[in-house]
Amino acid sequence: MGNCCSHGQEPSDNTTDEPAAQNPTNPAETSAAASKHAPPSPPPAIKQGPIGPVLGRPMEDIKASFSLGKELGRGQFGVTHLCTHKATGHQFACKTIAKRKLVNKEDIEDVRREVQIMHHLTGQPNIVELKGAYEDKHSVHLVMELCAGGELFDRIIAKGHYSERAAASLLRTIVQIVHTCHSMGVIHRDLKPENFLLLNKDENSPLKATDFGLSVFYKPGEVFKDIVGSAYYIAPEVLRRKYGPEADIWSVGVMLYILLSGVPPFWAGKDSVPFTFMRSRYLLIESENGIFNAILRGQIDFSSDPWPVISPQAKDLVRKMLNSDPKQRLTAAQVLNHPWIKEDGEAPDVPLDNAVMSRLKQFKAMNKFKKVALRVIAGCLSEEEIMGLKEMFKGMDTDNSGTITLEELRQGLAKQGTRLSEYEVQQLMEAADADGNGTIDYGEFIAATMHINRLDREEHLYSAFQHFDKDNSGYITMEELEQALREFGMNDGRDITEIISEVDSDNDGRINYDEFVAMMRKGNPDPNPKKRRELSFK
Ligand code: ADP
Repeated sequence: MGNCCSHGQEPSDNTTDEPAAQNPTNPAETSAAASKHAPPSPPPAIKQGPIGPVLGRPMEDIKASFSLGKELGRGQFGVTHLCTHKATGHQFACKTIAKRKLVNKEDIEDVRREVQIMHHLTGQPNIVELKGAYEDKHSVHLVMELCAGGELFDRIIAKGHYSERAAASLLRTIVQIVHTCHSMGVIHRDLKPENFLLLNKDENSPLKATDFGLSVFYKPGEVFKDIVGSAYYIAPEVLRRKYGPEADIWSVGVMLYILLSGVPPFWAGKDSVPFTFMRSRYLLIESENGIFNAILRGQIDFSSDPWPVISPQAKDLVRKMLNSDPKQRLTAAQVLNHPWIKEDGEAPDVPLDNAVMSRLKQFKAMNKFKKVALRVIAGCLSEEEIMGLKEMFKGMDTDNSGTITLEELRQGLAKQGTRLSEYEVQQLMEAADADGNGTIDYGEFIAATMHINRLDREEHLYSAFQHFDKDNSGYITMEELEQALREFGMNDGRDITEIISEVDSDNDGRINYDEFVAMMRKGNPDPNPKKRRELSFK
């Protein structure tokens, strides 16, 4: 997919072999500066180095744009440092993965997938945002949003355990995140308090999920076999090597048990583990085997302190999340509708919205020209940026026809846990089906569901503008606009004047680059503001 501004491509596997021609979202390229320039100012130069074997695109020296600061933490593969964007002074977190630690093909695949999944989840308020991925000779660097408030784990330790109300509020945020991941076709596979970070040091700092290093894309019904995760949080079906997204709910059930009682539900002996657990996660004194046996037995202790004084509703939810049978375990949507989690009345009674749906709704509200421009931009995106959407498209296109019908869309959304009325499905179909032929093709699907943040990449906007400005005059004329809409089967002759009058702020009857950029960036509000739940530690 490196060939910028091709369009309407079918999802064929050969696209994976082609290295992308440009970087992913990069803070250096997202400045609003270009919108101040008259056309045809060229977009930022794209550095062309040798192709890196991990990310499959030109290598680049991260130190040219960022300076690395103190260490923030380390994990199995990576060390995370504070990093500062030299041009703007903005601070980020940079996870550096040494390439020498990536010993086999699977390790490389894991890093690629982590980048793809973080791109796919871009724009979700409670997920750490990937700002850019870089590869140099020795390392891969993932530049992410900085979470300066530390790990949820440390706050839990500092507090001991939570009031039910505070735990319910925290759990709501966590399960919302899981619901988003699942509805976007992603299983996290390593949910635990250490992988939830706080954006800042405030008492009510937003919570962000991180570390998608073990995450995978899944299609409904797909079965996974690899045993991954962290001992206390692993679901029994993972140990039995046959699992799906339900395993994430189990892990969150374990987190809920810990939040309410301060100790993990499954551990080998009753001697000193709780004490040790609360002091340091590194001091694992019992064998993993003992923990695994306890998980497989599935006995939940509700008799020890403090369980006798905990509400029956809370215990009911714990039991339903830690049901050993994944088929009977609650889904993320069901957890969010459980009375205990809804206690303060904040959780919605209406069917849950999800990321795909809110993106489709947002798409529907755009004018035709903007939709066509998105379609052009979708053709510019790198494989890693659209991998998740491609998987999603393939998952919905059950007869592999290359197009999604109304029925396939209905079933696809239902499988993701979205309950919709017939009218709503039709509305969404109408939104995505830009050319109105009754089915959604691959290009339409990507254009309608890619995240609006992708627009901010200067070179995409510029390339799209050039695509329309056929004679390179620096303006999109009425004729050129008409031609563009026709090219995508969207010209019914009625909207041209309307679009021009909406976009052409200097009233000269044509669209210049500034006006084009303003149109693309205008009116992309958070489609789902009520879902921005913030964590509160009351
Ligand atoms: P690994 O995948 O190698 O386990 P993680 O992604 O879990 O690495 O990161 C390791 C540690 O680095 C985390 O536990 C956390 O303390 C710190 N860290 C990771 N991402 C961020 C971030 N965005 N902001 C601040 N600290 C972070």
